[in-house]
Amino acid sequence: MAQPLKIYNSLSRQKELFEPLSPPHVGLYVCGPTVYNYVHLGNVRTFLTFDILFRYLTHIGYKVRYVRNITDVGHLVGDGDEGEDKIGRMAKLEKLEPMEIVQRYTNDFHQVLERLNFHTPSIEPTATGHLIEQIEAVKDLINKGLAYESNGSVYFDINKYNAQGNNYGKLSGRVLEELLTETRELEGTSEKRNPLDFAIWKKAAPEHIMQWESPWGKGFPGWHLECTCMSTKYLGTQFDIHGGGMDLKFPHHECEIAQATGLNGAAPVRYWMHSNMLTVNGQKMSKSLGNSFLPAELFTGNHPLLEQAYSPMTTRFFMLQSQYRSTLDFSNDALKGAQKAFKRLMNGLRAIKAMEYIPSEADTQTAGLKVSTPGVAIDSKKVADIEKSVQGFYDAMNDDLNTAVAIAQLFNLLKYVNILYLNQLSPAALGEAGFAMLKEKFTTFTEEILGLKEEKSESDAILGGMLDLYREYKASQRYDKVDQIRTYFKAQNLVIRDMKHRIDWAYEE
Ligand code: AMP
Ligand code: ZN
Repeated sequence: MAQPLKIYNSLSRQKELFEPLSPPHVGLYVCGPTVYNYVHLGNVRTFLTFDILFRYLTHIGYKVRYVRNITDVGHLVGDGDEGEDKIGRMAKLEKLEPMEIVQRYTNDFHQVLERLNFHTPSIEPTATGHLIEQIEAVKDLINKGLAYESNGSVYFDINKYNAQGNNYGKLSGRVLEELLTETRELEGTSEKRNPLDFAIWKKAAPEHIMQWESPWGKGFPGWHLECTCMSTKYLGTQFDIHGGGMDLKFPHHECEIAQATGLNGAAPVRYWMHSNMLTVNGQKMSKSLGNSFLPAELFTGNHPLLEQAYSPMTTRFFMLQSQYRSTLDFSNDALKGAQKAFKRLMNGLRAIKAMEYIPSEADTQTAGLKVSTPGVAIDSKKVADIEKSVQGFYDAMNDDLNTAVAIAQLFNLLKYVNILYLNQLSPAALGEAGFAMLKEKFTTFTEEILGLKEEKSESDAILGGMLDLYREYKASQRYDKVDQIRTYFKAQNLVIRDMKHRIDWAYEE
């Protein structure tokens, strides 16, 4: 299947055909978390967008180097050039070493993403691990006349940058004059030649814990610089895709473009991708607004606004039900709907994985499964419909990762899985190739591309053993025992499906 992937490039503000610089290799950089607190669901949504991109690019044959950093220094409270370091502040509050804060929340971040079945990136570099590169970059920008030292700090010179024919504001569509009127002179900003200039190195006050020696005295790197240094170090001075949340477009990504263009004489990134926000009642979910949910609160249901617990895979499925560029509002109703649909999908996954092709001549009887299909002709209309849905899934993913439409196509395939399972259709009616396509695509789309997997507390072996007991008790008419086994399944939100042709268990939908 041809894969003309199109992605929306924030730089050109349109969907573009994705053409990597040196296929089959793809370089992908995503701004990672600032590890001063627990990762919230809004952050998760952004990282999920790029987990899907990573999975899909790999699926269609690219060799992806996926770099997602950990910000462990330089990101200041308020996201500007003044104030305390987010990590340093937390270290003071908790009376811990900054690196203890970093370790604690990096661990949390990894645990959360693992529960949500994320793939790990190829490289996960840290800002503090790249101080030498950052100091070198500052020196280089000063030498190129694009940065200046002022009172122990170093600022990027926007006017000089623009005078060289560049356009600071190109990515975010900001106009310098408007930005200037929006910018209020804050305390300390008078060190700057232009209020829009941004720090690439900051002088550290004695009480600022995280500081290092530099040619400009003791200080620490500006937030934006780490991503420029780490992305170009691992992916080259020009690379394919850079991603992050929409809120990072300005100033963070705008500044990254300016720094890298200043350093290397060319724009660093071909495709800029920005994921939209997870909102609560229309407002961005954020730690500072106090409306954020932690994944752990969702998984346990332990939050005043939650009516119940939602599993990691329900959460993942919920987020994938909308395309990454649209906002997604968080609500109990939407999550409940996602839970139901996710269970239907998992029942389909279990069913198709257990199904084997049975040729039309066969009259088969295996344990618990009786199928008789002599003389079944291939139903070419159904096969064509399955092919259409398979193509529809790829078309949706190729259309700027439209997971919402892709999931709808997957549910078209689920219809066929279900009628096979209910014995209303024989595998022979799809022909060997048609059946194999349905089985292969349904599992690949669900597991490999969307990253969804079954969640159950008992192993298949134990559940299978309980089903065997159920069959025995039923055959010997010991209905009290039969009921006990039903209760055992129910306690795990599972049900026994006692069908004419088959006895099985399923997730309670
Ligand atoms: P931070 O740890 O604050 O640097 O944020 C990590 C990532 O999460 C960034 O790419 C942000 O753009 C993203 N992010 C923050 N809040 C939200 C939200 N409510 N919805 C989606 N992404 C978000
Ligand atoms: Zn970044």
